Amino acid sequence: MLELAKFDFGSLTVTALSRNGGVSKFPYDTLNLSSRVGDQPEAVASNLTKVQRLIRADSLAVLQAEHGVKVHQATRAGEAAPGDGLVCTKPGLGIIALSADCVPFALVDPIAKVIAVGHAGWRGVLADLMSQLSKSFVKSGGDISQSTAILGPAICGSCYEVPKDRVKLFKKSNPDAILDKTHLDISAGVRAKLNELGYKTNQVLACTYEETKLFSYRRVGGGPTGRTGLAAVIK
Ligand SMILES: [Zn+2]
Repeated sequence: MLELAKFDFGSLTVTALSRNGGVSKFPYDTLNLSSRVGDQPEAVASNLTKVQRLIRADSLAVLQAEHGVKVHQATRAGEAAPGDGLVCTKPGLGIIALSADCVPFALVDPIAKVIAVGHAGWRGVLADLMSQLSKSFVKSGGDISQSTAILGPAICGSCYEVPKDRVKLFKKSNPDAILDKTHLDISAGVRAKLNELGYKTNQVLACTYEETKLFSYRRVGGGPTGRTGLAAVIK
């Protein structure tokens, strides 16, 4: 119920979560994993424990996205310092990126046992968080040629209407993110950049706006709503 999709690489796993199976009440029902959206702290803690058990982690480090390109090394459990990427080499310490329309993604090297998670909205795609996260991933021992990138569910291009001026910003830096004059496909932008960097990519094909099993910030007119996520852990 909690799980939307799971990727098992032998030495590590990546799990995309749904919004189901948690204890939070409306409008955070039910698997809200963010302590920053107004939900009860006890409910969030309980939900995180459920996820920790599901992915068989000893503890969890949670990304605190801020729509930038800062990347941190995850060395201990709990909320990470504000940033949009986490890299981890510690077995048992799960790392998780939260979102509700933005693209959560993971980079994993099952041989070197290095994992990373990132959170990219249009700002992150424009600022190329993907390259920043990849840089830290490689610095920590990740070898792109033997790694896979996994994109979690996000809002699809047809559902993501934006001002024309915003679309124009992507013409030079990431044209793959442009669906048409008024729509951005941020997943396509993330995926194109990761392919360009040399990653094999895989994507959980579900639109957060259309799929009621997922949280969508847009569907509820800008909130409040919960955040679910994409979690990675080295066994
Ligand atoms: Zn859609």
